Amino acid sequence: MNREQAIKSQVKGFLVPEFTMDFPGGGRLNGLTEPDFERVRAGYACAECLAVFDTYTVTCPVCGLARDLGRDIADAPSLWVQHINERNQDEPSPRRTIDPAAEIARLGAHPDVEQIQLDKLTPKRRPRA
Ligand SMILES: [Zn+2]
Repeated sequence: MNREQAIKSQVKGFLVPEFTMDFPGGGRLNGLTEPDFERVRAGYACAECLAVFDTYTVTCPVCGLARDLGRDIADAPSLWVQHINERNQDEPSPRRTIDPAAEIARLGAHPDVEQIQLDKLTPKRRPRA
């Protein structure tokens, strides 16, 4: 794909800056609205010529400005890395095995559990068949 084809297929238009300021040594500062700035920051517009791309673009087909990929793929904060490392080291704690019948008997012996024979229950409280 040549440059013209790349521009036609990738560039949707250009951002319009709120203001511009030319630096004495060359280069230009573009003052953008917050959504436009976010497009540039996220890689959907060029910071230099303000071309708007249809997708995340590393190298601008209009002016050739290449994004710093290292800044787009930032390292995880050290606290996150530390947390993940700690989590990976942990061994799952052994689970207590439960005997259902013994557990029901244990709970039934609790003084707060009402002891009523099934045939003495009112119809409303009887277990459904
Ligand atoms: Zn550009």
